[in-house]
Amino acid sequence: VSFGYEEVDEDEKVGRVGQVFSNVASKYDVMNDAMSAGTHRLWKDRFARRVKPREGEEILDMAGGTGDIAFRMVDSGANITVADINPDMLSEGLDRAIKKGEGRLVWSEQNAEDLNFPDAHFDAYTIVFGIRNVTHIEQALAEAHRVLRYGGRFYCMEFSKTLWPGFDKVYDFYSHRVLPKIGKAVANDEDSYRYLAESIDRFPPMETFRAMIENAGFSQTKVEPMMGGLVAIHSGWKV
Ligand code: SAM
Repeated sequence: VSFGYEEVDEDEKVGRVGQVFSNVASKYDVMNDAMSAGTHRLWKDRFARRVKPREGEEILDMAGGTGDIAFRMVDSGANITVADINPDMLSEGLDRAIKKGEGRLVWSEQNAEDLNFPDAHFDAYTIVFGIRNVTHIEQALAEAHRVLRYGGRFYCMEFSKTLWPGFDKVYDFYSHRVLPKIGKAVANDEDSYRYLAESIDRFPPMETFRAMIENAGFSQTKVEPMMGGLVAIHSGWKV
């Protein structure tokens, strides 16, 4: 399997992805602002509007990390579980929840490929900037399908490839040359941010990923590109 541009075996990938997020956990929020000039906030706001959480719904925010997506949905009155494989990311999130006085979120350590939830349990499943880090994407999609109830919805936001002419070159330069340096300057960690850029590059194009979601059993799959597809929201229904 690929870890950025390297080929590694499956266990090594899981270990090294774990290391990346344990390293970045305490600086995660500052770094996102530094790397995207705050733009990630707008993407995440838009994502939460698409999901339209409703009071009393059960929502699983998978690879939820420090809770950026969950905090944007919790005021709806939905019951949100933030699940992530990395305890360091979760504990940053829990600290944030305590500081905000937000006691409604449930934090749960889980691997997206093998979820500890019953079938047909959730009304919605969300995963944001998470799925490209998962070792077996098909397996994670199958699990998403399993834990959703019939009539439930799936939403995924991930980096993709922009189709805006010229912008792709600018972004390539930025992500491979500039981003690791910001990583070094702000978090003293160049390698983790190099991995993030490489893993974005390796992730399947929008249409391919849409087909993977359909193959996992979802209906009416859609993709909404942002900034020409630099980032995309994929969605589908379990019917
Ligand atoms: N969704 C959050 C956000 O948008 O701020 C966090 C995104 S962060 C870039 C990616 C997250 O995916 C990390 O917290 C990482 O631990 C998690 N992750 C990676 N592999 C995973 C897996 N197999 N199962 C669950 N979470 C995973």
